[in-house]
Amino acid sequence: MPPFEDSYFEFSDRPVKQRGCDCPGCAQTGDYRAPKNRDQLTDYYWFCLDHVRDYNRQWDYFAGMSVDAIEAHIRKASVWERPSWPLGGGRVREQDIRDTVMREFFNDGMKEEAAAPAMPKAERDALVALDLAPPVTFAAIKAQYRLLVKRHHPDANGGSFESEEKFKNINQAFTVLKRLYGVEEP
Ligand SMILES: [Zn+2]
Repeated sequence: MPPFEDSYFEFSDRPVKQRGCDCPGCAQTGDYRAPKNRDQLTDYYWFCLDHVRDYNRQWDYFAGMSVDAIEAHIRKASVWERPSWPLGGGRVREQDIRDTVMREFFNDGMKEEAAAPAMPKAERDALVALDLAPPVTFAAIKAQYRLLVKRHHPDANGGSFESEEKFKNINQAFTVLKRLYGVEEP
């Protein structure tokens, strides 16, 4: 019997208010639970059906491996260039493996985070709002801001609600980025 076989594919038995799927970016409701850790059976991720299947499939993949094989696999993955546990002789904790499952298989964005851990969410969101990707200079931000402000100005779009919202987002994003990138300017 593979380890942890008893611990997955459990259906919600709690008629509580709907919760969101724990898979980052997923808008489905989290109706299916998967334990975060075999030793903490009261602590669950909650997933939609698709993601609980993905999670359990990935977990099966790891569950069939020895601890050493799992550790080797995880260290091989680029996302684990800087492992969160000590190198050499350190045993992989089950929580590390489950965290890895979450990172590697559910959220490509988290890989980017691992590569650029310094970027706060507000900054990332602001760059996305301006259709920019790092690395970027303040001059480029300003140029893109001017372009988008012109394009999405409510006056240029018949005052539509959509363009008004977009216009607002662009301005908010620019305020955030000005604070972060514009420091060298008077
Ligand atoms: Zn989901």
